Amino acid sequence: HLAERDGYAPLNSDFDNFYTRRLKMRINDCFARPITGVPGRYITLLDRKSDDGNYTFKLTGTTTETLNMSSYNYLGFAQSDGPCADASEQAIRKYGISMASPRADAGTSELTLEVEDLIAQFVGKPASMVFSMGFVTNATVFPTLVGKGCLLISDELNHSSIRFGSRLCGSMIRMFKHNDMRDLERILREAISQGQPRTHRPWKKILVVVEGLYSMEGTMCNLPALIELKKKYKYNLFVDEAHSVGAVGPRGRGVCDFFGIDPAEVDVLMGTLTKSFGANGGYLAADKEVIQAMKTQNAAMLFAETPTPSVLVQIASALRIINGDLVPGQGEERLQRLIFNSRYLRLGLKRLGFIVYGHDDSPIIPVMLYNPAKMPAFSHEMLKRKISVVVVGYPATPLVSSRARFCISAAHNKDDLDRMLAACDEVGDLLQLKFSSGVAGGA
Ligand code: PMP
Repeated sequence: HLAERDGYAPLNSDFDNFYTRRLKMRINDCFARPITGVPGRYITLLDRKSDDGNYTFKLTGTTTETLNMSSYNYLGFAQSDGPCADASEQAIRKYGISMASPRADAGTSELTLEVEDLIAQFVGKPASMVFSMGFVTNATVFPTLVGKGCLLISDELNHSSIRFGSRLCGSMIRMFKHNDMRDLERILREAISQGQPRTHRPWKKILVVVEGLYSMEGTMCNLPALIELKKKYKYNLFVDEAHSVGAVGPRGRGVCDFFGIDPAEVDVLMGTLTKSFGANGGYLAADKEVIQAMKTQNAAMLFAETPTPSVLVQIASALRIINGDLVPGQGEERLQRLIFNSRYLRLGLKRLGFIVYGHDDSPIIPVMLYNPAKMPAFSHEMLKRKISVVVVGYPATPLVSSRARFCISAAHNKDDLDRMLAACDEVGDLLQLKFSSGVAGGA
């Protein structure tokens, strides 16, 4: 089916590889399941069937309600009831659905400026700028920060949007082993002693790019060590807080809050508004001069649509709730529930003998399946027990490091987690997934 037709090259060719052909034959349950309703504590899947045993599906007209362990709904703001939804509904009446313009033309509203102030205050930086997508934020920021003659050093497990964006900036790119500070220092030492290729001129700038909390590993960046190295080697530091903002730290303000580090020590804090805030979009927070440069030069600012009014209001309401300004105590309660739930499920899974990756306080819990053939089986067995989980494998992970990834939410309660543990216990035995002795703290 990859043959050319009437002399035209097929456009579908490259991705139809071993992975898609062999595995997607059996993935009815695990990828791109369409849903209906709110992706909150529960998620309703639209049932579908495949006529050809391949990966084209027809909806059957029925639905299945499942416990949702797959959405990034860390603080439970995906829910469509409550103060956030009321305010967003009013915003639609007052401001309409779309800004119908890029930021640089007529796309900056009073709401945009209000949200930018709120985000800057929340993350502890002087200024911030919002974008319509987290992906677009990373895909467009690097050319404004660094360019030719600069060195960008990236953690090897950085998100696809960082890889995508950093390729556009013209800088030399080096990668260091995931979270390995010795490897980072080795690269820095080599790069600084040798200078730019051929000319040996010193680098104009060095930018180190990491994530706060890694979405496939559940690991936290080693921020204290990164700050130490930064002082020694004088690089700029960019931290993508897509999964950590709102989700880690005693006040939910991300990795600086978690490690007790002054946000002034980090040059650029990037984050998404899609996860902890139940909205859409991304942001950058930095010194006023950096944000000012971004606002005049960034391609998304000049050429892309901006976050919509109802989305901006959702972000503002969620931030005010986390800060305790809108509903006193509720932000703190959500943060505490998220931490409790994350630790409870992680510990329970370890006790059962699963190999679980990541930091104890991470709401992302990767459970190792290793063999890619176990991905559809795991997903299918969990669905039989009315629980939806995401399974991840190649190309998001190495082929033999396939895993299930559970996303914890403050919207889950202890009964949900006990139900999850009971299901994992059964499915773990069935698929032989209990690789460790079951001593908590291992792996
Ligand atoms: N950065 C990281 C680390 C991410 O995990 C993601 C998405 N999962 C993004 C950026 C892109 O964000 P968005 O989905 O909001 O576009």
